[in-house]
Amino acid sequence: MTEQLKPCPFCGSEDLFIDDIDYRFNEDISEEHRDGICSAVVCFNCNARGSEKDSENKAILAWNSRKSGTNEERQ
Ligand SMILES: [Zn+2]
Repeated sequence: MTEQLKPCPFCGSEDLFIDDIDYRFNEDISEEHRDGICSAVVCFNCNARGSEKDSENKAILAWNSRKSGTNEERQ
């Protein structure tokens, strides 16, 4: 079962996409973290960005648990 994306908590837009980041070619990321592909939900409308996770499903769950006015969660 695929998780359904909730509308953007900041602007209410449903114009969202999953951004897949390939860390292996990103020289801005320290080498120890360059171990594969991460996914994050991004809002086309306001560029809000969810937490980066190692799977699309986790990225969606992180996005859905997000509330407006809070900073990006960090672990
Ligand atoms: Zn938005």
